[in-house]
Amino acid sequence: MHISPGTFIAVGGVVGFSILLLSAVLRWQEKEYGIRTLIFFLLVGLVWSGGRIAYDQNPRSGIALAEIAISQTLLPVLLATLTLSFTGRNRARWWVLGGGSALLLLWVGWYLDVGGVATAILPALPAQISHQWMNDAGYGVIWGAGVAITVMALWQARRMHPQVQYRNRYWYWLGGTAILVVANGLFILQRELFPLAHALMIAGIMIIGYTALNYYPPELALVITRTLKSLTVTIAVSIFVFFALSVAYLMPDWGVPPGAALLWLVAIALGLGVFLPVLARSTERTFGSVLFGKHEDELAVVRAYSQTVKTDWDFYKLSQQALHFILQEIQVERGAIFIVHGDGTRRATVTLAAGAGMQASTNGIFPHNDPWFVHLKTAQTPISRFDLEMLPKFRAVDPDSRAWLEALDADLFVPMVLRQDELVGVLALGAKPGYGRFSQRDLRQLHAVVTQVALDLDKARLFGQLGQVNQKLGELTEEFTTIDRNKTDFISIASHELRTPLTHIHGYASMLLEATAGDLQDPTYLQRVLDGIARGSTRLKQVVDLIFDVSKADYGILNVARHALNLKDVVNNAIEEQSDALEERNHTLIVSGIDQLPKIEGDMVRLVQAVSQLLNNAIKYTPDGGTITITGRFFTENDTDSVELIITDTGIGINPNDHRRIFSKFYRVDDVAFHSTSSVKFKGAGPGLGLPLVKGIAKAHGGDVWVDSPECNEETCPGSQFHFMLPVKAPVEEEPPAVGDDEATKRETRRWTKADIAIIKEKIAKYRQASDDEPPDET
Ligand code: ADP
Repeated sequence: MHISPGTFIAVGGVVGFSILLLSAVLRWQEKEYGIRTLIFFLLVGLVWSGGRIAYDQNPRSGIALAEIAISQTLLPVLLATLTLSFTGRNRARWWVLGGGSALLLLWVGWYLDVGGVATAILPALPAQISHQWMNDAGYGVIWGAGVAITVMALWQARRMHPQVQYRNRYWYWLGGTAILVVANGLFILQRELFPLAHALMIAGIMIIGYTALNYYPPELALVITRTLKSLTVTIAVSIFVFFALSVAYLMPDWGVPPGAALLWLVAIALGLGVFLPVLARSTERTFGSVLFGKHEDELAVVRAYSQTVKTDWDFYKLSQQALHFILQEIQVERGAIFIVHGDGTRRATVTLAAGAGMQASTNGIFPHNDPWFVHLKTAQTPISRFDLEMLPKFRAVDPDSRAWLEALDADLFVPMVLRQDELVGVLALGAKPGYGRFSQRDLRQLHAVVTQVALDLDKARLFGQLGQVNQKLGELTEEFTTIDRNKTDFISIASHELRTPLTHIHGYASMLLEATAGDLQDPTYLQRVLDGIARGSTRLKQVVDLIFDVSKADYGILNVARHALNLKDVVNNAIEEQSDALEERNHTLIVSGIDQLPKIEGDMVRLVQAVSQLLNNAIKYTPDGGTITITGRFFTENDTDSVELIITDTGIGINPNDHRRIFSKFYRVDDVAFHSTSSVKFKGAGPGLGLPLVKGIAKAHGGDVWVDSPECNEETCPGSQFHFMLPVKAPVEEEPPAVGDDEATKRETRRWTKADIAIIKEKIAKYRQASDDEPPDET
């Protein structure tokens, strides 16, 4: 076998192309962009190199020559097609493949002189145009067009994807193309440099094939720097060694004894030993600082972070501060911190915690097996935009999630991981200035800072939860205090409210016991004593009734009848009940808007009781000569027709803090000790059960009651406005539980325990017994 330099190079090409081809075929499954075109391109390269070997063995083989020529002309067509699919221009690629193939067929027709057409046309052409000349011209045109399309596609793609990873790959691709152009120039113009052209051609194809298969070819800038560094060191060392050896060489001529020359050589060896590492380090540092800026270790960044970002227990403030620190440190303008909820469930939700120039109008939703999510959680390394768009493993990202990610326009996603495997958040960063690369140093620093931020955020989150628990505890304590106060209030109110009439009864009864026979004969005396006993027992009954009603309302067993009735009648009856008090306190009463109100379904007695109570309160808490207004209103809300009575007074008003509390049992704004029991006097408080009963009646009708008042002020008297709202149609009624009725008892056990029911039964039985024991004539 005859081995010329050409054969040697061609064998190299065959080996190189075969390796690339193998890796391309192995990645067929991964659905890489343009993988089929790449395989075809490399195959043609392989055939072409094989042709060269065959030709070198037998230069007269016409078949080998034709095979070389045709495969070499097919290469630019495939190069342009490959570039278009590599840059995602899938439609254009078919046009180019079609047009290129047609051109190629024409050329092949000419080259092989199919049907003798070329021979026939040639004489008609000018004399200097030979068959060979036309071959070269056609070859040049096809290569020129292929290269032009390649460069244009790269140029356009570069504008669409300015990110550094894309740019780096495009440079390699362009470099490979440039090498191919030079090789072809040599083929056409300098046939003596054939082996060189051949080697260049192989190199160009290999670079392009390698770039197509490799997402992260080493950064060109880095390759150039390293080469420069090695060159500098080599030149410096060569100069040093040359100088030192020249001196050693000349030493015998200068009459220096051999021992001294040996010492000199030892000194040189030592010098090299010391000088070489220093030189290597300093050149590295110089080039490193020129290309990557000054070096700073991760600890320093974390230290700076701890010093800059004040520990704030407010989760969102902390996120914002941390984000600003990171943006400044990494020199990026836009970014955001997202919090991951539901890691470990079927779907994780990603919500914005802090953003600078980066917004998310909705939360991101990621299925638990989404490749983006899984990578951040398990590989725990950053994902660049380039990765997301190019790497086959991210092609399965759910389309909605992908659209959400793309809308952020982020260049890098950094996972924020806690305790090994808990993905608590994601840091998204916008492009570096000029779409520069996030250097290794950036990534190291980001990793260090983000770990710290994740820890701090977790602490802030726990602290926030602690705050909520604390708040809840505060509310519960307040509730317990109220309950406890209710109990104490009940005791003092009971002693006050019940003792006063009891004292009356007791006094009059004692009078009877101590009465002389003459007293007992005196009708006036008897009348006074009996009146006193009757008044006392009526008041006692009123208070006990009220307590009982409120307790029923509390248990949800305040039964109300459902009859069609006019609110006007309700209001008039209530006014009637309170007319004496109104007169005594010299108040003006204005009633408006109640004539037009529709009929409602309700319990006349209970509603009069409620409105009368509200009116009574308005009378009591308004200084003499005030104005009380009752206004009726009809309205429709959420398809429900309702009526509302608004009782407005010009009284002392109620502090907003008390608006809710006055509706709870035994609650009174003033201290119990200071109140005077009266249903008429200014500020004459009762047992603090009136409003709870009003609320119970409203609720039993499917309505509600609430108050509006700016403040409590006895001097300015801002007044209060009580809203008593009822639905026109009673809501679908729950069967009132008849006590003792087995069905009802069963149904109610849903809400009450058996013990509750026993208590209620006992209470009701006692009450019935008490009413039966009462003397029939009370008045
Ligand atoms: P009471 O039996 O003490 O009147 P209520 O339940 O009727 O109890 O009222 C509770 C508290 O609400 C009252 O002690 C009073 O302080 C306040 N209050 C009720 N109505 C008014 C009003 N119209 N103006 C000012 N304060 C009122």
